Amino acid sequence: MNIAVIGTGYVGLVAGACFAETGNYVICVDINKDRVNKLKKGIIPIFEPGLESLVKSNVEAKRLNFTFDTSKAVAQSQIVFLAVPTPMDEDGSADLYHVLNAAAEVAESINEYKVIVNKSTVPVGTAGKVKEVISKITDHPFDVVSNPEFLKEGNAVEDFMKPDRIIIGCDTPRSEAIMVELYGPFVRKRNRIISMRTTSAELTKYVANAFLATKISFINEIARLCEKVGADIEEVRSGISSDSRIGSSFLFPSMGFGGSCFPKDLRALNFMGIKKEQDLLVVQATIEANKLQKQFIPGKIRERFGENLKKLRFAVWGLAFKARTDDIRESPALTLIDFLLEGGAEVNAYDPQAMKLTEEVYGNRIEYSSEYYSSLVGADALIVATEWNEFRLPDFPRMHRIMRKPIIFDGRNLFKPQPMKEAGFEYFSIGQL
Ligand code: NAD
Repeated sequence: MNIAVIGTGYVGLVAGACFAETGNYVICVDINKDRVNKLKKGIIPIFEPGLESLVKSNVEAKRLNFTFDTSKAVAQSQIVFLAVPTPMDEDGSADLYHVLNAAAEVAESINEYKVIVNKSTVPVGTAGKVKEVISKITDHPFDVVSNPEFLKEGNAVEDFMKPDRIIIGCDTPRSEAIMVELYGPFVRKRNRIISMRTTSAELTKYVANAFLATKISFINEIARLCEKVGADIEEVRSGISSDSRIGSSFLFPSMGFGGSCFPKDLRALNFMGIKKEQDLLVVQATIEANKLQKQFIPGKIRERFGENLKKLRFAVWGLAFKARTDDIRESPALTLIDFLLEGGAEVNAYDPQAMKLTEEVYGNRIEYSSEYYSSLVGADALIVATEWNEFRLPDFPRMHRIMRKPIIFDGRNLFKPQPMKEAGFEYFSIGQL
């Protein structure tokens, strides 16, 4: 099949490469010329395990191509995916500017029947809006499909190639048949395609993200309670997650959830409720609990060092909102760095993948280390903000020697209090005894 993918970010580039991998001819479009030029030269603008080799091999096989010319891409494709951003608007709603703008651009070049697929996360009713925009511009036949994406950054290629499920919101049998054929190679072992109305598909994506975020906020809240009542969150977590109805994923205490999806998608879902006068109390509580959680480690730092952090130096391990990605959007590590800078502290940061993007935010307001031990030189404390594997079993005696004060704030509960005490560290974590 011939496919165009509009937007070459975390979703568009992964989708484009994976569709090419299954034999389709894919042309990826972006308005960011620098990004397109880099991609044409084989430079991958984001970090995602396995993506670089997948892109390169499919470019070499001439199944994957890049352009900033939407009309060329649309004219030659039967299916057009919209994978553009849906950022949060000032009122918390999803800003559909990019989606509707891309839809209008696509409409200009429709020359025969096309399936236009919303892969961006969009509020209920957006398929209808896209349809309206396109019908005003073209008389050619087309269908609009909602096909929300469930990949996880850090595991995106694997998730796309072996999806738990594929949600297809179609209002016509013709577009449904095309989508089912396209996704056939991804569901050979077991049919995981779930077809539904476009409105249900649009809502499913928000509900899935809200549920996962609720699990995170819930365990974080319980971790805070643990500290008050003298229980250990790791014990409680293993106690509850052994119940198959509860499960073990998304129950790890942290500095709060971040990333490009959960924060904005929860706000967008809540906004949908407000608009329809349907209170979403659980969603609201999840948002509020997350705000509190992002202040939890800063609160502990304040308790330990006081309000004034001048002349203190902090090492920060991990900047990405989670491991295996370079994405720092809404990362709790950034909330923490802002807090440290406001208090007048010096910050030296390290992340295996997210340094470049962090430098674009902070410039020379913080220092950067090219590896994690050197960030500890002269540090009054270390804060572990992201759960990268390389931080899990560090050389503690070496760290003890390098740091000015052996103090660790562990925002991911990577370590255990007792061994840390024995290693001579003053250790703070989240709900551990
Ligand atoms: P992103 O910001 O990484 O990439 C979007 C790309 O679209 C950018 O390169 C931008 O230049 C390009 N773009 C914007 N307008 C365009 C236009 N008119 N024509 C061509 N290109 C255009 O975004 P992302 O993280 O890939 O997210 C895209 C959508 O997918 C969002 O709605 C997001 O909520 C959703 N989503 C993201 C993830 C994720 O993990 N990142 C997962 C599931 C769903």
